Parts: sequence; C-alpha cells; structure tokens
Amino acid sequence: MTEQKYQRILLAIDFFEGNGDVVQRAVDMVKRYAAELFVIHVNEPPTPAYGADIVTWGSQVYEINEQVRAYKKKRLAELAGELGLDEQHTALAEGRPAQCIHQFCDEQNIDLVVMGTHGQHGLALLLGSTANSVLHGSGCDVLAVRLKAD
Ligand code: AMP
Repeated sequence: MTEQKYQRILLAIDFFEGNGDVVQRAVDMVKRYAAELFVIHVNEPPTPAYGADIVTWGSQVYEINEQVRAYKKKRLAELAGELGLDEQHTALAEGRPAQCIHQFCDEQNIDLVVMGTHGQHGLALLLGSTANSVLHGSGCDVLAVRLKAD
C-alpha cells in the first residue's frame, strides 16, 4: 500500500546563503509522498527606527522596498524555474513571515511546511525565530531543517 501522508508541501525560503539543504529536503519529501510543492517567500517591509522622521523615511523606504521586492521576485522566479513550479505554486507575500506562512497554509490546505532553523539557544531562543513562530500556531506539520553554522 502506498504511504500517503503529505499531499501539499510548502517550502518557506528566505534567500540567505545555505538554504540548499532546506530546498533539497522539500524536494525529497515531495518525491517520497508524491506531493504537490509550493514555495513562498515573505518580503518583510522595514519598520522605522525610533525617532525617525516618518515623512522622509516613508518616501525613501518605499523606493528601497520596491527594489528589494523586485530582487526577491527575481530570485523566487529563478528558484521556481529550477523546481519546475508555475505561478500558482509560487507566492511572494508581504508582511510578517510567520503570519503570512500561516495564512498561505490555511488558504492552500498545506499539510507540511519545510523550513530552516538555526537551532537557537540562550538569548536568541528567547527572542524567537521564524521556525518557532511558524510552529506555534501552525495547523499543519512543520519540518525544521537544521541549518549548518557558517
Ligand atoms: P530564521 O529563523 O529567520 O533564521 O529563518 C529560519 C527559516 O525560516 C529560513 O530558513 C526559512 O525557511 C524561513 N524564513 C525566514 N524568513 C523567511 C521569509 N521572509 N520568507 C519565507 N521563509 C522565511
């Protein structure tokens, strides 16, 4: 009998170095369960520093954020191309990563999220990580792939 646990897998990607293992693990899980793969990147708009002049800051940051967004869009399209994914399976969201990932999972009936984790401890653990935030409040399974230290 064929094992049929996961059908819709979401790869959450941040485009920092060293996430090749995360991509590979998602691909492995997709093959193992003959599942459908989705990929998401969340562009997090910068928040103003304390005491910043909001008007000046606002116009400058809009431009910078547009450039960053265009760059992320390009990177996401390249990754989608490598993975053979069409636009329906590729999402560039805007907001807080964990919140957007939760929302995408609910909307798309995702049953497994594959993401990286640095395995924080001490202060970093208290401050939290994206993997922690996704895990807490997730309606589906989360596979946190340990990222190698630099
Ligand atoms: P972090 O806790 O920020 O080091 O990120 C750990 C993992 O969370 C990354 O390896 C990604 O899988 C995922 N992640 C972090 N930021 C984002 C983002 N902006 N969009 C999508 N996934 C993200």
